[in-house]
Amino acid sequence: MQEQHPIYDMVVIGGGINGVGIACDAAGRGLSVLLCEKDDLASHTSSASSKLIHGGLRYLEHKEFRLVREALAEREVLLSKAPHIIRPMRFIMPHEPHLRPAWLIRTGLFFYDHLGKREQLAGSNQVEFSSINSPLHAEITRGFEYSDCAVDDARLVVLNAMQAKELGAKVLTRTQCLSAKTENGVWTVKLENSHGESVVRAKVLVNAAGPWVAEFLQQNLKQKSPYGVRLIQGSHIIVPKLYDGDKAFIMQNDDQRIVFAIPYLQDYTLIGTTDQEFQGDPNHVEITQHEIDYLLDVSNDHFKVQLTQDDIVASYSGVRPLCDDESDNPSAVTRDYTLSLTQVEGAVALLSVFGGKLTTYRKLAESAMTLLKPYFEHMRGVWTAAAKLPGAEHLVSLDILKLNILEQIQNLDDNTAERWTHAYGSRVWDFLKNIHNVDELGQHFGCGLYAQEVDYLVEHEWARTSQDILKRRTKLYLKFEEESVQVLDKYLISLRERRLKKEVA
Ligand SMILES: Cc1cc2nc3c(=O)[nH]c(=O)nc-3n(C[C@H](O)[C@H](O)[C@H](O)COP(=O)(O)OP(=O)(O)OC[C@H]3O[C@@H](n4cnc5c(N)ncnc54)[C@H](O)[C@@H]3O)c2cc1C
Repeated sequence: MQEQHPIYDMVVIGGGINGVGIACDAAGRGLSVLLCEKDDLASHTSSASSKLIHGGLRYLEHKEFRLVREALAEREVLLSKAPHIIRPMRFIMPHEPHLRPAWLIRTGLFFYDHLGKREQLAGSNQVEFSSINSPLHAEITRGFEYSDCAVDDARLVVLNAMQAKELGAKVLTRTQCLSAKTENGVWTVKLENSHGESVVRAKVLVNAAGPWVAEFLQQNLKQKSPYGVRLIQGSHIIVPKLYDGDKAFIMQNDDQRIVFAIPYLQDYTLIGTTDQEFQGDPNHVEITQHEIDYLLDVSNDHFKVQLTQDDIVASYSGVRPLCDDESDNPSAVTRDYTLSLTQVEGAVALLSVFGGKLTTYRKLAESAMTLLKPYFEHMRGVWTAAAKLPGAEHLVSLDILKLNILEQIQNLDDNTAERWTHAYGSRVWDFLKNIHNVDELGQHFGCGLYAQEVDYLVEHEWARTSQDILKRRTKLYLKFEEESVQVLDKYLISLRERRLKKEVA
């Protein structure tokens, strides 16, 4: 007799922001969902972004009004869904009259202020720079200021995955989808992970494989991709803090592109991004010398502090999986998303995601569910706009939360309390519940990372390796010594062995 594999309503391929966003929305509407991610959650494009929840001022120049309107409105929706990992930020645009006239910027900012609903974020205004206090070159004397938000991109993904799981979804990381075919009106999906191969069945398959979306269709499903995908590489450099204060700068470059300088993790400035065609393997994207020179030049053209390559503390790169609109210029390719719903063998649904931004992931997921409504008649309606993400529940104020942490945990340093407040919000009590002193937090790996937090990340956030923890869950990798990384790796191996023994027993 043929083995009966479980049938899910939906199997989602890809644990980037779009995959987890759809899985979460679907689970909250009562669908049974399985999501598989071949690596760690957010290990590709979704952790390599500029980390902004923004309308995209420059997209107005490319007449992307639909996208900008939706993205502008999403800023405040997401801000109240996850105020611990998203914060309002003011952006300063130094005026460069030879690049864009003042009237053009003013018109753009007028639209930016009014196109989408805005209640919490302040509107735009003009600014003057004093030559002594300004971090910019003395000849830059005026500019404009407007609001957007900064986000911890990888944590936005993890929090959506957690919410999906809490709503009943099964989330399998380090599990690759090898193939899927239709049989008797359902998908038979073959998965592979360290335990071997397995099969699940699904009524609907969602291809949210990001940079692999077209390759997955062609190679794993043997289907023709309905759209072309342009892979556009973007890179960032991280340097010691270029200036004091919590505002970001949006710098215009001679090639008409813009580059951000964003305050990052208290001690650093994040500078990016670039736009260049990418032809290689999206598993291995690295900053090029050309990109490094480009970003350093733009920064040095604007800031008094002159950077060299030696100042770069770290860099990262990702590829945007954009829907090909045949633009000649990589910066001009549409940043909007396109969803493709096809019926394989006349009945079985396959939904593929092309493009999309972190900022619009929630709306993208809602649109996906609207398209899939005919397959799930009893599915519940929209719900995500007002729902808090994990850690935002019962959160009165981040300052009060931090004070409460410092009050409860004797001898805890301020930086760690601050980091926990912004990473975990109210969920911090899940690992601090019975702890009253730093001594009770277990082994200290450095930089305020203790066993109690590591255990929580393994247990609740799918962390497995030191890189999962240091790069994506905590961002401590910028400060961590190599020796401490090895100690953490050893601890994680022994933790996994202990967990395995427990499972067997
Ligand atoms: C340089 C740069 C800057 C950006 N800045 C911003 C910004 O500031 N704000 C903003 O809103 N957006 C920004 N974006 C856009 C945003 O980051 C992306 O649109 C978004 O992260 C794409 O998410 P995704 O889920 O589609 O792809 P990904 O995050 O790449 O996720 C796809 C996942 O699918 C998995 N996968 C693939 N094949 C399989 C398989 N067979 N089985 C299992 N898993 C599989 C991959 O491992 C991957 O993790 C930026 C993008 C870049 C590159």
